[in-house]
Amino acid sequence: MTPPREAPAFRPLSASQIEAIPALKRVPADRRWAMRVVAAVLPFRVNPYVVEQLIDWDRVPDDPIFRLTFPQPEMLDPDDFRRMDALLRRGAPPEAVRQAARSIRHRLNPHPGGQLELNVPTLHDQRVAGMQHKYRETVLYFPASGQTCHAYCTYCFRWAQFVGDRELRFASTRPGTLFRYVAEHPEVTSVLITGGDPMVMKAEKLEEIAEGLLEIEHVQSIRIGTKALAYWPYRFTSAPDADRLLHLFERVRARGRHLALMSHYSHPRELEPRVAREALRRVQDAGAVVRCQAPLIRYVNDDADAWAELWNQQVRLGAVPYYLFVERDTGPRDYFAVPLARALRIYQSAIRRVGGLARTVRGPSMSATPGKILVSGTAELAGERVFVLEFLQARDPEWVGRPFFARFDPGARWIDELRPAFGEDGFFFEKALAPARREP
Ligand SMILES: *Cc1c(COP(=O)(O)O)cnc(C)c1O
Ligand code: SF4
Repeated sequence: MTPPREAPAFRPLSASQIEAIPALKRVPADRRWAMRVVAAVLPFRVNPYVVEQLIDWDRVPDDPIFRLTFPQPEMLDPDDFRRMDALLRRGAPPEAVRQAARSIRHRLNPHPGGQLELNVPTLHDQRVAGMQHKYRETVLYFPASGQTCHAYCTYCFRWAQFVGDRELRFASTRPGTLFRYVAEHPEVTSVLITGGDPMVMKAEKLEEIAEGLLEIEHVQSIRIGTKALAYWPYRFTSAPDADRLLHLFERVRARGRHLALMSHYSHPRELEPRVAREALRRVQDAGAVVRCQAPLIRYVNDDADAWAELWNQQVRLGAVPYYLFVERDTGPRDYFAVPLARALRIYQSAIRRVGGLARTVRGPSMSATPGKILVSGTAELAGERVFVLEFLQARDPEWVGRPFFARFDPGARWIDELRPAFGEDGFFFEKALAPARREP
């Protein structure tokens, strides 16, 4: 390991500091104002690393990392934008602004995929907060202190976690319930600690979680969902507890378990800075497998060249391309969504130009209520143009790997906008799902 260098302190910047970011002086004043309007509704946070090392200010506003992190005026519906703009212009009281923001948020489908009702597990008949158990082998754990990120993505599907609305949140304060639940469920072989970004937590807290899981014999892998390698690589190089964190990774490996960093990389630029590569190397040297995933987002990475470059760089640096997701049906998706047909063209065009080691990436995949649905291609069948779909993960494991078909629709962006092919009335999984939706 290289010796730690001087650590820049982590100081996130929020909406009230937009005017204080020197680089932003180059953005016209009306656009800066619009950012504040949008940031009154949707979460906004950047940090000096993103501003100084990732964004190419000569390309703003079209720069992909700028679009990835700074609020864009079109992210709100025009009526909502006007309403919030008017309130802020006339200096309305904070309570009025908060109330307007809340009502706009509630119309943006804050918890897609029935997450609040459908996937919450129970332990001895009690619902347990801060966990989801949707796919047999894997439990998701949301530690309360890991529910922020080093910067926020404008398209974030977990955005509801970052705004003050208490009823939109789900997080767990103590890992004891997690340990008990997993210990009682031998089918659970993988625990995915997620957020937010658990890498905002102190190494000490992560140790407590990992140590507890290591006591459970049937846990084969511990995964950590994170964007810290892209947004704050100093977490792994020079943060005060960086070495302690890497030792934790080593210990998990020494105890014979797989440790995976499920890393969110949106654009090849995130792999360019020296410190980003050093961080990636250090976590790999500590024995973590870095698997990479991100959604396909209009204005950020809706471009086959960017994906091919991203996957090639990841392979070169020893990481494993894993998933390409479709933007979820939540928040500002009308602005960021790419139709499935176009997402498929981009994925195919990119995958055809990379080598076999990069073809481990699967997509475009929708994390929808019934499961992770892969759009595997289009075909002409019985005189009808169709999408060929399959489950990569499903609420019922029997659904996996069984092709099914939807009528081709060039504009559809999500499973609920697709109709079954061949005149059928519903997709095969819909009947099975109907009772689940009625559960309390
Ligand atoms: C994606 C996802 C997982 C992990 O799925 P893998 O295919 O094992 O990576 C687990 N739970 C939920 C709810 C998910 O969306
Ligand atoms: S890193 Fe993930 S959780 Fe954090 S803002 Fe981005 S998409 Fe949301």
